[in-house]
Amino acid sequence: MKTILTGIRSNSEITLGNYLGALLPMVRLANTHSDEYNINIFVPDLHSIISEVDGNLHQNTIRSLKYYLASGLVLNKNVHFYRQSYVPAHSELCWILDCVATMGETSRMIQYKEKSKGQDSCNVGIFNYPILMAADILLYDAIYVPIGEDQFQHIELTRNLATRFNNKFGDIFTIPAKTSDQVKFMGEEEGVRVRDLINPEKKMSKSTLAENSKIMMNDSPERAKKKIMSATTDSLGRIKFDMWRQPGVSNLMLIESLIQDEPLQDVISSWSGETRYGELKKKVAESVASLLTDFQSKLEQISDDEILNLLEEGESYANKVANSKLLEVQKVFGLR
Ligand code: ATP
Ligand code: MG
Repeated sequence: MKTILTGIRSNSEITLGNYLGALLPMVRLANTHSDEYNINIFVPDLHSIISEVDGNLHQNTIRSLKYYLASGLVLNKNVHFYRQSYVPAHSELCWILDCVATMGETSRMIQYKEKSKGQDSCNVGIFNYPILMAADILLYDAIYVPIGEDQFQHIELTRNLATRFNNKFGDIFTIPAKTSDQVKFMGEEEGVRVRDLINPEKKMSKSTLAENSKIMMNDSPERAKKKIMSATTDSLGRIKFDMWRQPGVSNLMLIESLIQDEPLQDVISSWSGETRYGELKKKVAESVASLLTDFQSKLEQISDDEILNLLEEGESYANKVANSKLLEVQKVFGLR
C-alpha cells in the first residue's frame, strides 16, 4: 500500500490561513484516500527546534494532533500519528543521506538562502533540514507529500538523492511523485492563499506581528469578528473579486467560500452588484465566528490521553516500517 505523508511544525498556534490552506485540505485528502493509502501524520519535532518554539513543544505537539481530529479527520487502521523524535531512524537516515548529498545541491536550496540570510551564525539545522526531510519521506516509501510551494525544491532534492542512491545500490527507495503530480493529486485547494487582513497584498502569516492582520484558531469568536470588521478594504465602493485592485474585498469572499465549502464563483455571484462592504464583512465575520466556535468546542472534547494512545500505536507502526528500511540502507554501506 502506498503512503501519503504530512506534517506541520507545531512551533506555535496556527492561523485561519494555515487551517483553510493546509490543514483542512489535508484532512479532506486523508479522508478520501485512507482506504487505499497509509496516511502518515507526523509531528516534525526535530524540525521545530531549528527555530524558536512558542510555549512547550510537548504540549504543542498534542494540541496540533488534536487539530486534525477537530478538523474532521476520520481515523481508521491506515491513519498513523507519530512524533519524528520518537522514531530514531529519521536522524540515523539523515546522517547517511548527508553522506550521499553534496554541498553544492544542498547550498542551492532557496529556503536555506532565505532563512540563513547569508549569515555564518545561522545554525547548521537550517542548512541540513532538507536532508532530514528526505529521510522523513524515504523511510516510509511515501509517494505523496502535500506541502506548500516553498518546499517544492526539497521534494526535488529528495527525488534526486533517492535516484542517485538507487542507481548505485539497487531499488531501495521509492521515488516520491514529481511536484507537478503532487499538485495534481492535491487538487484545486492547494495553493489557495488567505491574505493578511490589514495588508491584503500579502498572505496571512503566523509570524506577522500585528495581531489584527491574522485570525488565530484560538482567538475568541468575538475577537475574530472584530478583526474581520476592521479588515482593510478599498475606496472603490463595489464588491468585486479582483485580487489585484481589490485584494481586501476579494480575500473576504475567498474566506467565505472556503469556510462554507462553496465554489468561489458562487460566492462572487451572490455579491455581484452589491456595494456595502459592511454587509460583506458582517457575513464573513459570522462565518469565521461560527467556524471558531465549532472548532474550539470539538477541540475541548478531545483528551490528551486519546492523542497519547494514538501516538503509542502510531509510533510502534512507524518504528517497524522505518527500522526495516533503515536496515536495508545500513546493509549496503556495510554498517550491518
Ligand atoms: P510563517 O510566518 O512562520 O512562515 P505561516 O503562517 O506561513 O508561518 P507555515 O508554517 O510557513 O505557516 O506553513 C504551514 C502551512 O500553511 C503550509 O502548508 C503553507 O503552505 C500553509 N499556509 C501558510 N500561510 C497560508 C495562507 N495565508 N493561506 C493558505 N495557506 C497557508
Ligand atoms: Mg510560511
